[in-house]
Amino acid sequence: MRFSIIPSFLCIVFVFSFLPCVVFAADAKDPFFEVTSEHFRARHTIESEREMMQGVLRHAEEYYVRVAHDIGYSRYEDFWTWDRRVVIILYPDQYAFARFTGSPVWSKGYASRDARVFRERTIVSYGGQENFVDEVLPHEIAHLMLWDYLRTPRAVPVWFEEGVAQLQEAGKIDKVQEALRPVVVQGNYIPLSSLQLMTITGEKDNVKVSLFYAQSLSIVVFLIQKYGLDAFHCLCRELRDGMSFELALTHAYPSLVESLDMLEKRWVKYFSEQ
Ligand SMILES: [Zn+2]
Repeated sequence: MRFSIIPSFLCIVFVFSFLPCVVFAADAKDPFFEVTSEHFRARHTIESEREMMQGVLRHAEEYYVRVAHDIGYSRYEDFWTWDRRVVIILYPDQYAFARFTGSPVWSKGYASRDARVFRERTIVSYGGQENFVDEVLPHEIAHLMLWDYLRTPRAVPVWFEEGVAQLQEAGKIDKVQEALRPVVVQGNYIPLSSLQLMTITGEKDNVKVSLFYAQSLSIVVFLIQKYGLDAFHCLCRELRDGMSFELALTHAYPSLVESLDMLEKRWVKYFSEQ
């Protein structure tokens, strides 16, 4: 079943709590220009995009605070400052982005903390996407913060991570829930036992990719809306401390969601009650 999740634009109120400083790359061999904020360093290839990149940094700082709040990352202030700033690289177009990162054609952004690819925590994407600031950027920041918070190696299922990442995208929740409702009601969703094992990298079936992402977000939204942020923080904390996902569920939601099977049943019921 095909359903589309249309990107939306949300006007976000800026908080000008910092002034980005501007540093241009002096090295002629370096094709990038650079602007920095407290926790981020943005590198771009088109000089005239400087102001736009400063706006990107202002949004990035807001997302940094919001993601920390959502996952209960209370000591986040100490991370990503000075030489540990997260690097945001914007390539001029999708071709250059895909060529450099090897990302699949449906991918619009990429986050890495892999030292083999980049030396620092890095978010890579490309310019000209109208949804970069509202969707791609908060999504990738959430990935990096989750990785920092949950540490590696970790036993967190990919869907959970993707659900938290999509939670940050402007206007996405309502569209996903609406598109997913008939799929869930008709029983055409991916069983949670299968979702739990799925890794989406390399997947070429667009419908399957869409469903995977939609369910990922929907289940995270269900946990937060139905049982509150405190219990969700508890779940994240138990995962951070190395607990398996199913065991962490029983700790965070005692007698409510004590297994994957129960999570699936309650999530489906939640849809039928809407
Ligand atoms: Zn993602």
